[in-house]
Amino acid sequence: MHTIDRVLDEVDRAADEIVDYTIDLVRMPTVNPPGDAYEPCARFIGNDLAARGFDVEYIVARGRAEHSPKYPRVNVVGARRGGPGPVVHLNGHFDVVPPGDRWTLDPFGGIVRDGKIYGRGVCDMKAGIAAAVFAAEAIRRAGVELPGTVEISGTVDEESGGFAGVAWLAETGRVARGRTDYVIIPEPLNVDRICIGHRGVYWFELTTRGRIGHGSMPFLGVSAIDGMGHVLDAIRTELKPRLAARTTAMPVVPDGARHATININGIDGGQPVGGIQTPCVADRCRAVFDRRFLIEEGFETTKRELVELIDRAIADVGGVTYEMRDLMIVDPTKTPDGSPVVGALDSAILRVLGTPARLIASPGTYDQKHFARIGGVPHCVAYGPGDIEQAHQPDEWCRIDDLVNATKVIALATLDLMSHAPLQR
Ligand SMILES: [Zn+2]
Repeated sequence: MHTIDRVLDEVDRAADEIVDYTIDLVRMPTVNPPGDAYEPCARFIGNDLAARGFDVEYIVARGRAEHSPKYPRVNVVGARRGGPGPVVHLNGHFDVVPPGDRWTLDPFGGIVRDGKIYGRGVCDMKAGIAAAVFAAEAIRRAGVELPGTVEISGTVDEESGGFAGVAWLAETGRVARGRTDYVIIPEPLNVDRICIGHRGVYWFELTTRGRIGHGSMPFLGVSAIDGMGHVLDAIRTELKPRLAARTTAMPVVPDGARHATININGIDGGQPVGGIQTPCVADRCRAVFDRRFLIEEGFETTKRELVELIDRAIADVGGVTYEMRDLMIVDPTKTPDGSPVVGALDSAILRVLGTPARLIASPGTYDQKHFARIGGVPHCVAYGPGDIEQAHQPDEWCRIDDLVNATKVIALATLDLMSHAPLQR
């Protein structure tokens, strides 16, 4: 029997184990914030990997403010070393967002019904971790001599930026150019799609300042809320149409996210609404904005455009000043054209599903940026089981057949990548 068929057979044979492993992960409530049950979850993954022939290390983000004795930020990395071929790193975050309301099932029960596994984080992305583990396991059970090294990491805090997770692995050199050749992140981007990156993110806080005065004579004060109102007006009437007219060449999904966008996260100004009121002109107003920019725009142009717009809008209201504070800047990330990691997944998807893969880019950001920017590992994509629309939803689920198919795809792609020469050694 051909190697590929043996590996695919082993995945089929392991289907129940893959489901059980996923359920075990779902039953650990690794909710972020605050970062519950991280250490037991890391140990569970680590002990399991050790039993499957991996060398395992725990990498704790000591030195990050979010790491504390009560909520330790524990990451786990396992490596199974074979020949001198490339290092293929499979990374999954095991933190999940809070369940929220409207669940009809226990979010941490790990319930299986009608070919689906239910639970918070099953789709985003505990099924993905199971797919990575059993992709490597099927290769082992098929008796294949590894031409290279397969690594599997379980990391924390992706949902809150990944700074104590993948960014920490990259900063400490555990994943790095020269040490890590290819990365697959089994995020739930649908079983036939390969995700090659994401748009940029610019979060900023804008504060407008006026001058307090008596509310019965507002003309004697300067309203900071009026100032903010002018900015919001300019955003709505000038900026939004301009952004909607810009389209990226990156295959971002859904279609609406092919364009540049801006969202207002929140706003407050003047006296707290709901408190006791006094007649005062608001001397301060503050809002937080989420601007998603295209790789073609770049951060500098994005910020300059905003500053010019705000300058003009504020100038309309005499006496208002403003300040702008950067909260988060994430540059757009894109896997290089012709990357072997895309090619390997592409042929594996065709082999397993019988349909060609679709290349997409994500509307939001994920850990790929840390591999690429801090680690210097550009050959990174997201590919994994689950429907992206299920992420963060009540009654979140992942289809078992998608999970099994994604495991097959990752197994074949991993083998394929290991047969290439290592990069930049
Ligand atoms: Zn995720």
